[in-house]
Amino acid sequence: MLNIVEIRKDFPLLEQKVHNFPLVYMDNGATTQKPRIVIETIKQLYSQQNSSIHRGVHFLSEQITDIFENARNTVKEFLNAGESHEIIFTSGATGSINTIAYSFGEKHIGPEDEIIVSEMEHHANIVPWQMLCERKRAKLIILPIDDNGELQIDRLENLFSRKTKILALTHVSNTLGTINPVKKIIEIAHTHNVPVLIDGAQAIQHGTVDVRDLDCDFYVFSGHKVYGPNGIGILYGKEKWLEELPPYQGGGDMIKSVTFKKTTYNDIPFKFEAGTINYIGAIGLSKALEYLNRLGKQDIEDYETKLLKYGTEKLNEIEGLRIYGNAENKICIFSFLLEGIHQYDAGMVLDKMGIAVRTGTHCAQPVMDRFGIQGTIRASLAFYNTKSEIDRLVQGLLKVKEMFH
Ligand code: PMP
Repeated sequence: MLNIVEIRKDFPLLEQKVHNFPLVYMDNGATTQKPRIVIETIKQLYSQQNSSIHRGVHFLSEQITDIFENARNTVKEFLNAGESHEIIFTSGATGSINTIAYSFGEKHIGPEDEIIVSEMEHHANIVPWQMLCERKRAKLIILPIDDNGELQIDRLENLFSRKTKILALTHVSNTLGTINPVKKIIEIAHTHNVPVLIDGAQAIQHGTVDVRDLDCDFYVFSGHKVYGPNGIGILYGKEKWLEELPPYQGGGDMIKSVTFKKTTYNDIPFKFEAGTINYIGAIGLSKALEYLNRLGKQDIEDYETKLLKYGTEKLNEIEGLRIYGNAENKICIFSFLLEGIHQYDAGMVLDKMGIAVRTGTHCAQPVMDRFGIQGTIRASLAFYNTKSEIDRLVQGLLKVKEMFH
């Protein structure tokens, strides 16, 4: 069982007051706060160990290269990937999806080909595919969601055609909190010989992800949403795909040899890591993952499930509050509206009480269109949140109602 009082001490940012109230940070879907071990590691790397990786024969460069490659191994273990060269460091989930949309798209997508995405995707898993469709005159096919915010899986089978080339799907919705049955969907896609990219940006921090068990072809996530640094992300790809796909960006480190006549590319993972990548961020990320391992992924999941149950009950007691996203299987995200009150007004008043929530479309405009709304108030929780913070949110919302009615 998690000791939340102790755990909160690991996160210095949570100790502060905002507008004279103890901070209630419930914007974890946008970014998570960092444990001391991540902050201290970055400080130590820059003060004592910084040097460019893979390039030097000197002590510092060799030392940091080792630490960096160990970080890759930590990510590999965290995802239960088969090989560490299946782990590519990118700038984030967005960077990872763009890498595959470009690289896979260059090789495998032509006119009239089809790409399946769902209606609940973050823009990061829509727009790169739309750009590809524009470049190649291909088509985007949409898997719809129902009123609870669950995928209409029964309609999936009919979406496949001989022209389907790839399916890209979020593991967990950043807006509705829905946990999608990705293993089942991957299995269905594979019966049609269609590879699957899973956007794990909202999944990796909430439970166990096992890419070999899922059998996904690609899995992506961002460091900053999993208690790690900003500007670093992961692209997992099955070896066979990474070997056969062309590089996304050209530059240093991704080459074996360069002449004006012909350039040959480096082996994976380096083929996809052009330039001086964010090695400090990568090491910081590995520290965040080690921290989560120490807490225990199952314990994190169990605790967050309790928060979800408590929060759902409490929020549903507020008259005029409607939650969007009531999937059977969901993470601790509450997207909701108060009848007759604009989400921005509510968000501003909550802020004055030291409560940080997000308001707007959450970069998932098609979800808003599906429900015929402009946006929602989103409280997205992490394992450092507490039931008493949920009580503060409820009190805050009651105050909002009082002010606007
Ligand atoms: N996918 C999902 C489901 C997300 O929630 C986000 C971030 N909100 C992204 C992709 C993009 O992540 P990043 O901006 O860190 O690249």
